[in-house]
Amino acid sequence: MATLTYTPVDDIPKVHARARAAFESGKTKSVAFRKEQIAQVGYLLKDNELCLKEALKQDLGRPHLETEFLDLSPVYIDVAKAYNSVERWAAEQKAEFDLSFWAMGPKYRHEPKGVVLIIAPFNGPVVLTMSPIVGAIAAGCAMVLKPSEQTPATSALFAELFPKYLDPELYHVVNGGVPETTKILELRWDHIMYTGNARIARIVAAAAAKHLTPLTLELGGKNPVVLDSKSDIKLAAKRVFWGRCLNSGQVCVCPEYVLVPEHLQDAFVDAVKDVYDESFYPDGPENSDSLGRIVGESHVQRIKNLLDNTKGKIVFGGQVDVSKRYVAPTLVRDVSGDDSLMSEEIFGPVLVVIPVKDTDEAILFINSRDDPLVVYVFSQDKAFQSKVFNNTKSGSAVANDTMIIVGVPGLPMGGVGASGYGYYTGRDMFEQFTHKRAFIDNPSW
Ligand code: NAD
Repeated sequence: MATLTYTPVDDIPKVHARARAAFESGKTKSVAFRKEQIAQVGYLLKDNELCLKEALKQDLGRPHLETEFLDLSPVYIDVAKAYNSVERWAAEQKAEFDLSFWAMGPKYRHEPKGVVLIIAPFNGPVVLTMSPIVGAIAAGCAMVLKPSEQTPATSALFAELFPKYLDPELYHVVNGGVPETTKILELRWDHIMYTGNARIARIVAAAAAKHLTPLTLELGGKNPVVLDSKSDIKLAAKRVFWGRCLNSGQVCVCPEYVLVPEHLQDAFVDAVKDVYDESFYPDGPENSDSLGRIVGESHVQRIKNLLDNTKGKIVFGGQVDVSKRYVAPTLVRDVSGDDSLMSEEIFGPVLVVIPVKDTDEAILFINSRDDPLVVYVFSQDKAFQSKVFNNTKSGSAVANDTMIIVGVPGLPMGGVGASGYGYYTGRDMFEQFTHKRAFIDNPSW
């Protein structure tokens, strides 16, 4: 496995200059060239699937199947979509017909913004780097990727593989931590796509403001689940807890807490316990190779502190082993809004249950906090679903499942308010890295 070498800080402006010169050479104007490079992203992943799965196993204790499901499959979808659509996306579009201006032939086209920067987090080291890259290539941009230093095996692999598969002048990897990223952010970019936590997002946004650089911010938060008393409790328990344990709880769209009608808390907690015992980790979670690990010891310690200080009751789990980066799948009940577990995104396999009086209280609870990336509802009753969705705000709204919305082709994926702005995937990604340039030609008559 390759070892991670940080890019020397002094080399970073040179990488930036190379990317700009390559963009200005005009090479990316050709849609055929973009298609070839998009296909190369697909080959990079396909040829190296096993190495990538092993790298994620090393970085996150990730089961291979989870890497396939969470990281690889969505990028293959993006590669195929962009490859098949980029001609159409990049084609000139006529403006809406207007009698006063038709003779000027008003039209517009999506032009590449230029040299773009993609800063990625640790929790989806392939999908959160490669999907934006597909968008940037389709848009005709040059690109520099800054992967997370918290996933050293995967980030080292990118540095090794990129020049073998992609144009080495247009598409670059810069590896490093805070000093390297700080240097990167001093430079002028034509768009920055940052995925990660809101604290660093503010640093990125401040740096971008100096150059008036447009931004996409894909952030996190705490995603609520609202449970209807008439819903299938066992199904809800299974799907919610599955979503909570995927990637050991380190997915931006993981359900974090469940708002349960008071009288149903016992039944819901029992249902989670039952499905967990029946179908989750038959050999125990610690020995299971189906449960990933937390990315680093500091994050394990952080989760431990949240658990140590909770006033809720731990129903099962709660075991933490810092040196093994292990947090047991945990269910905590009778939690209130001011609890330690509600003070920040947990980003670990800990599900919080909050009893509420009724749906109105659940809605008030959600609206009293930062806008989440997803609001989940478990109910077969469309009126119940609408009541929750129509009276709350979130990036996405999902009924009767968790997680899978991120894999649905054609749907925009983005946050609102504190969970960010801009969109992932497909055409949305292409649009972010392009500018709609308008044209008219006024005839002499
Ligand atoms: P992280 O710690 O890997 O950091 C993200 C990036 O920021 C890294 O590349 C890192 O090098 C860089 N960085 C760190 N310190 C910096 C600094 N001082 N200045 C500039 N850059 C710096 O990952 P993270 O932020 O902990 O990621 C997890 C968060 O991302 C969670 O909140 C999660 O919900 C969110 N997330 C959101 C989405 C989405 O689509 N909305 C997807 C995945 C993750």
